[in-house]
Amino acid sequence: MTIPKPVALVTGASSGIGEAIANKLVAAGYRVYGTSRRGARAERQAFAMLALDVTDDASVEAAVAELLRLEGRIDLLINNAGFGLAPAAAEESSIEQAKALLDTNFLGVVRMTRAVVPHMRRLGVGRIINIGSILGVVPVPYVALYVASKHAVDGYSQALDHELRTHGIRVVVIEPGYTKTAFESNSFQADAKLDLYEDIRVKVTKVVNQAMASAEGPDVVADVVLKAARADRPKLRYTAGKAAAQLQFMRRFAPAGLLDSGIRKAMQLA
Ligand code: NDP
Repeated sequence: MTIPKPVALVTGASSGIGEAIANKLVAAGYRVYGTSRRGARAERQAFAMLALDVTDDASVEAAVAELLRLEGRIDLLINNAGFGLAPAAAEESSIEQAKALLDTNFLGVVRMTRAVVPHMRRLGVGRIINIGSILGVVPVPYVALYVASKHAVDGYSQALDHELRTHGIRVVVIEPGYTKTAFESNSFQADAKLDLYEDIRVKVTKVVNQAMASAEGPDVVADVVLKAARADRPKLRYTAGKAAAQLQFMRRFAPAGLLDSGIRKAMQLA
């Protein structure tokens, strides 16, 4: 008798971290379905692609129904789809922009979870791995809305894990630091800019660009995801990358004042 391969669904697998995760899971023996708002791409890929927009209820339901029609089960859900806003003060984004960010980064995770959990519950087994960020636990300024979206993912995941553990399903958050992908170029500019923040925007953008230039690649995150997917007793949170590990260490063990002043120093704030 052959044991069927576990089936994994990876949102936002058209580039960056999601693509690296999908490829890593294929190599590890999973049957992998990636998603993109654009659907299947012309060039050959190691994994199948489904069309999915995580902000659209009908699109989420259709993609999950299609995967269940093809495979009959989902063992692993990786909620990775997300985007950022270029550095700017919190008050430089409209409420519409804040809603759009949360709609993808947080409610996208909620929609996917609601669609997939009933099937995992029926099987009595499953794992959901949410790609949060180290900014989901560390409040870095001038990306406040992104920080808020990833704190939401963190809180939701931790609470959800308590609920679903009873049904054989575990929920994990991965916290990458800066990772070299198209993330920055796919970030949106603040839509309500104010002249008074021009200088600080330039300064913080420079700091972020410098950090991105020396950032680790998406494979580092994919390795951690695979570890979390395979762990018999997964942790609630895994950091990914050296910078994220250093920040998490400071957050856990250094006095709060030290992290506070460290954040201001790193962002070159007076
Ligand atoms: P990319 O911009 O390279 O990839 C983003 C992916 O998300 C794309 O595949 C895109 O697919 C998909 N996506 C965006 N919006 C939607 C949507 N509404 N519905 C479905 N898919 C969507 O960035 P990264 O790979 O860097 O980012 C992946 C995740 O990692 C994000 O959640 C991000 O917040 C997180 N992260 C990134 C870090 C970094 O420094 N790069 C650090 C920490 C966390 P398509 O456009 O084809 O639809």
